[in-house]
Amino acid sequence: MKSKQHPIPANSDLHHQMISWRHWLHQHPELSFEEVLSSDYIASVLESHEIEMHRGMAKTGIVATVQGKKPGDAIGLRADMDALPIQELNQFSHKSRHDGKMHACGHDGHSAMLLGAAVYLKQHNDFAGTVHFIFQPAEEGGAGGQAMVEEGLFEHFNCKAVYGMHNWPGLEAGSFAVHDTAVMAAVDTVHIAIHGKGGHAAMPDQVIDPVLTGAQLISTLQSVVSRNVSPLQSVVLSITVVGAGDASNIVPDTMRLTGTLRYFDPEIGEMVKQRIQSIVENTCTAMGASSELEIEPGYPATINTPQHARKCAIAATELVGEDKVQTSLPPSMGAEDFSFILQARPGAYIWIGNGQAACESVGGCMLHNTHYDFNDDILALGASYWVQLVRSLL
Ligand SMILES: [Zn+2]
Ligand SMILES: [Zn+2]
Repeated sequence: MKSKQHPIPANSDLHHQMISWRHWLHQHPELSFEEVLSSDYIASVLESHEIEMHRGMAKTGIVATVQGKKPGDAIGLRADMDALPIQELNQFSHKSRHDGKMHACGHDGHSAMLLGAAVYLKQHNDFAGTVHFIFQPAEEGGAGGQAMVEEGLFEHFNCKAVYGMHNWPGLEAGSFAVHDTAVMAAVDTVHIAIHGKGGHAAMPDQVIDPVLTGAQLISTLQSVVSRNVSPLQSVVLSITVVGAGDASNIVPDTMRLTGTLRYFDPEIGEMVKQRIQSIVENTCTAMGASSELEIEPGYPATINTPQHARKCAIAATELVGEDKVQTSLPPSMGAEDFSFILQARPGAYIWIGNGQAACESVGGCMLHNTHYDFNDDILALGASYWVQLVRSLL
């Protein structure tokens, strides 16, 4: 299929406006549920274009609404607004002005693209139905998406379906990736405490050594993924934090282990959690130690509704052509709280290429890196995708 004229062309006035919004947001990064300045800024842009909005959902969340010329279904488009606790090392003029905080995941770009789409659709409302533009707080670990759903997002704004988009470094600028079903993994955090009996390190027969027990546990836990999970399934179990002891001549009382568990299929996740429990209990018992285990639930897996993913792929293909829409990329083991929104309504979450360049230049630097920046060149394409999706659905 041949690509067509984009609703918001590159280098258009609206593209330049989106760049200036994006730079302002980048300069003023705020952490989860603290997006006060960002939320005010987004609201002021919406207000200046006479777009109606509802504020204060999940503290700083905004839902803006644009009605089409004719009545019809309502859909939701979502962007996240929060930044990360990272000290930015970029030196460009729009670098972070908030010490220790940085838009290192491109949520500044996501908000700017959604704003651009709202402004465009307000002026060109030649569709039948309603579009709700959801500006969500606290994607980075705070589950702001879940908070909005629990505060009645879809009771107030009854969307038939919802759509999300994340920039993807390493994917060529000017392209998209769409997954039929699983796109991002579920994440849980594993906390283990091993209680032994401390004492003099020169008298090991008098102690119950939690460090030796912990070392065995770290190794044995690796058998869960390698021996209990089918090699055709994707699961990660990594112990990433180890803590015990203060001195070379003292066996400590306790050792603490923390790790991350990631998977796509909730049934497999349950099986893995049961195996972790059994291995922790039995290894510690065998070594004479006792244990405490807590598996703290994080985000569920982000699973697209296939029918909606196909609609997204068609909208993207209309803009950039078939060869620039990848539909066979593997999902990411990263997690995303759009998962909660997709548990409440059908829809799909796609990736837009941020660029393939090396980290020194814009686009290719990985998410959450101190040198990351959202690629301004793709703002017009991302906003055009939202417009195209609305026009194809409503
Ligand atoms: Zn992130
Ligand atoms: Zn992100």
